[in-house]
Amino acid sequence: MDYLAPTTLAEVFDALDKYGEDARLMAGGTGLVNMIKQRLVAPECLINISGLAGQYGQVRPEATALTIGALVTQRHMETSAVIRDFSPLLADTYHRVATIRIRNAATVGGGLAHGDPSQDPPVSLSVLRARVRLAGRSGVREVELDDFLKDYYETDVRPGEVLTEVVLPAAPARSGSVYMKFLPRTADDYATVSVAALVALADDGKTCREARVTLGAVGTTVIRATAAEDLLRGQVLTDEAIRAAAATVPAAVDPLTDYRGSADYKRDMTEVWTRRALTEALARAQQATA
Ligand SMILES: Cc1cc2nc3c(=O)[nH]c(=O)nc-3n(C[C@H](O)[C@H](O)[C@H](O)COP(=O)(O)OP(=O)(O)OC[C@H]3O[C@@H](n4cnc5c(N)ncnc54)[C@H](O)[C@@H]3O)c2cc1C
Repeated sequence: MDYLAPTTLAEVFDALDKYGEDARLMAGGTGLVNMIKQRLVAPECLINISGLAGQYGQVRPEATALTIGALVTQRHMETSAVIRDFSPLLADTYHRVATIRIRNAATVGGGLAHGDPSQDPPVSLSVLRARVRLAGRSGVREVELDDFLKDYYETDVRPGEVLTEVVLPAAPARSGSVYMKFLPRTADDYATVSVAALVALADDGKTCREARVTLGAVGTTVIRATAAEDLLRGQVLTDEAIRAAAATVPAAVDPLTDYRGSADYKRDMTEVWTRRALTEALARAQQATA
């Protein structure tokens, strides 16, 4: 296997041109190396892009958004005061990924390009309506994260492209949000079911202006519970309203039976954890409004 360590995007594009589909980009390597070991992929060339960290390893605050370089580590996302100030939800979510050892190596961009539906960050990044930037020879395009995550381990990174940045819009005013990861086995496992919820209240501090719910580990990619979101918009969020919205979620998911639980069990758990997440997000929105 050939190994390249470019330090500029132009060099990465050259390498991708040369090896085409026989090349694989490697950032932290935590996902890719496992796939190579399991012989799920057998690249002829590994292109280690950690040399781009000078340009794409920082977090940059902008007027109404935060730009996060693809090579920022997941540990930095967990520990950075800038991230926690801008989005406590995101800092909490990265804290739930695997172990510190993994988070020290794994990157934001590598995590998203990996496209594993059981990962934690895509769930909260979907609720935050994040976008990803992809650079290719012909320029940079920006894609909604929900459109970028296409299928099981399949994303919208096109041949010749590199995911360079994630753009995180500010959360709505008077909002509260939470990420809940149901882990019945061990604390560093992948989720059996996970859910991120965000509730934004109207000026009266009672009516729901907007609700967002995204689930992880229960489909081929993250799943937005749009029926639940629609039911809650414009409502006063009583326990009954939240219960009714959560009851729509099992019909929206399509989990697999595995050693973390049966498909039926996971489907039932989506309702329970959505109800808990919405209740907590509402409490946080009320605190933010008080
Ligand atoms: C033991 C273990 C436990 C884990 N537990 C969890 C968990 O609980 N929750 C969770 O969310 N995740 C978990 N993970 C997964 C981990 O989050 C991913 O492996 C990690 O996010 C991948 O990031 P990376 O930088 O190491 O990517 P890499 O392994 O380097 O790359 C992953 C994929 O993305 C591609 N790629 C990388 N960077 C880019 C880029 N900039 N542009 C385009 N393509 C790119 C690579 O070609 C490869 O296909 C676990 C992993 C391990 C090994």
